[in-house]
Amino acid sequence: MDLRCRVIRATSLVLAVVGLLSTVGGCRQSSGGPELKPPPADARAVAPTRDEHSYAQPDVVAVTHLALDLSLDFVQKTLSGTATLDLDWKNAAATTLVLDSRQLLIDTIEAGDGSTWATVLFEVAPSDPILGSKLTVTLGRQAPKVRLRYRTVPEASGLQWLTPAMTLGKKTPFMFSQSQQIHARSWVPLQDTTLVRFTYDAHITSPRQAMVLMSADNDPAAARDGDYIFRMPQRIPSYLLAIAAGDLVFRPITDRAGVWAEPDMAAKAAAEFADTGRMMEATEQLYGPYRWDRYDILVLPPSFPYGGMENPRLTFATPTVVTGDKSLVSLIAHELAHSWSGNLVTFATAKDAWLNEGTTNYVENRVIEALYGKARADMEKVILRNELKVEFTPANVALQPLAVKPGVLKDPDENLTSTVYTKGAWFMQFLEERVGRAEFDAFLKAYFDHFAFQSISTDQFVEYAQANLLATHPGKVSRAEFDAWLYQPGVPSTAPETTSARFDAVDAGRKAWLESGTIIPAAVTKQWTTQEWVHFIDGMPSTLTPAQITALDAAYKLTGTRNGEIAQRWYPLTIRSGYAAARPAIADFLSQIGRRKLVMPTYRALAETPDGLRFAREVFAKARPGLHPITIGSVEATLADKPTLP
Ligand SMILES: [Zn+2]
Repeated sequence: MDLRCRVIRATSLVLAVVGLLSTVGGCRQSSGGPELKPPPADARAVAPTRDEHSYAQPDVVAVTHLALDLSLDFVQKTLSGTATLDLDWKNAAATTLVLDSRQLLIDTIEAGDGSTWATVLFEVAPSDPILGSKLTVTLGRQAPKVRLRYRTVPEASGLQWLTPAMTLGKKTPFMFSQSQQIHARSWVPLQDTTLVRFTYDAHITSPRQAMVLMSADNDPAAARDGDYIFRMPQRIPSYLLAIAAGDLVFRPITDRAGVWAEPDMAAKAAAEFADTGRMMEATEQLYGPYRWDRYDILVLPPSFPYGGMENPRLTFATPTVVTGDKSLVSLIAHELAHSWSGNLVTFATAKDAWLNEGTTNYVENRVIEALYGKARADMEKVILRNELKVEFTPANVALQPLAVKPGVLKDPDENLTSTVYTKGAWFMQFLEERVGRAEFDAFLKAYFDHFAFQSISTDQFVEYAQANLLATHPGKVSRAEFDAWLYQPGVPSTAPETTSARFDAVDAGRKAWLESGTIIPAAVTKQWTTQEWVHFIDGMPSTLTPAQITALDAAYKLTGTRNGEIAQRWYPLTIRSGYAAARPAIADFLSQIGRRKLVMPTYRALAETPDGLRFAREVFAKARPGLHPITIGSVEATLADKPTLP
């Protein structure tokens, strides 16, 4: 959820005409009028799909290339400069370009051919709280390029600016972007829709102490000189546009993979993610070559609101998975898997998010199985499926099918996480088990090839699967069974069960403790992985007696754990059980971590009682300056939902 309640600047008709396009010399269309071009060959499979979350009209005109020339200012918290868009006009008569923007301060817009420019009229519509502002550029006639001079605001929803105090090193400010779902429009005026793909290049200037990186061709040996050039030759949708800057150093993992992080984190992260090269090989073995050249991981400060973001060539990752025992590296397997499912074959609209996340979670689990064995992969599946069961409520039935109906998803940040990820992956496992693993692997590999560098809808997936999986494996999966996963709420009765012997042992230990108070011996729990601790806590009754929770904490020292997956489960249990001794550690946890998934369960548990809510509001007031707007939005919504306290 990403509720933005800030007052957004309303702008009206801006700027005068200096010269219309008729004055532009050398413009492609100036002599012979606009030419009609056939759509690019790879666009033929893209059916007309409307993106409810963008004002862009890609069937009229599509951006094919973006050139950024921006100056990065940590003091003002702005990016400012120009964005030049190359345009592919699809409609011969059209002369209007509609772009997405949110809180961008636009100075001038010019149209031209790259060497000669003329200022044109534009209008920024009043802002919609979710979609931002429709930016309409009125051209005299079709031009091959437009150049927008603009700056971002410090509150841009897609950027976070961190003071030195909010970083690990405490010396250099830091900034990073998070463009998914529809936040690229808050730092670049563009067609912010997955229906449009473009290449980009960028020239970024910054203070010398900052290393700047983008979702592009980062050079591990780049000199830190405050002047950076980037090139991204592969076409990407806008949500994969990314930038970060800070005191960042590089550590290689293999000759094509490495880690960027603050100096004190770099060695730890490189050790944690040492298996990245093997993960790349395992994924390539299943689904064909990695097509993005380098695969680097940028470890962000703890305020990063997500676990990871699959920015091409440069995954952004939370430091909360650097635990020292590689127990949470499925996050890297996940972001890497997006190099096939998501970045290569992209969902057409947010309604089709499962195509990115469900497929990716399935691939992630296969890679975990290949590297760490079936027992670990199964434990991870069981944990996620338990979360899924809790997520389904009568209130969100409309969001439970994988294919969400038009109009249901108001804010694309609001899609149900476990449904999109876990039910989606479960669907893939169902298909795999019905047709056989080798057959399903071949299907998925061919699917990634067929739709490479395209955005597709659920309908297109269905059509492809009908022809290349269901029809070619008669009698294995009926169309009704297939459709139930996509269009029905809940989990279909055909869902394959996954069990875990190691979790069975955890269940037995927990049951014995609950019934007789016999604590599981340290010799046993010493062998436990994060997954077993998570399952141990997940299976507890919703509240424990004061004696029980005190005994548990005394035995295992769970309060103060540095493992976020354990903390996000343990703290809500202590809150529900009235275990006030955990409060100082809870305050620390909520102040130090900004990853939304980890902090929200604790905020929600606190918000259940007046006393807890008071405590949560106190802690949040202190933590807020260090949090990302996305996390702030979620916490505010949780704490504001409650009736005012006396
Ligand atoms: Zn993902």
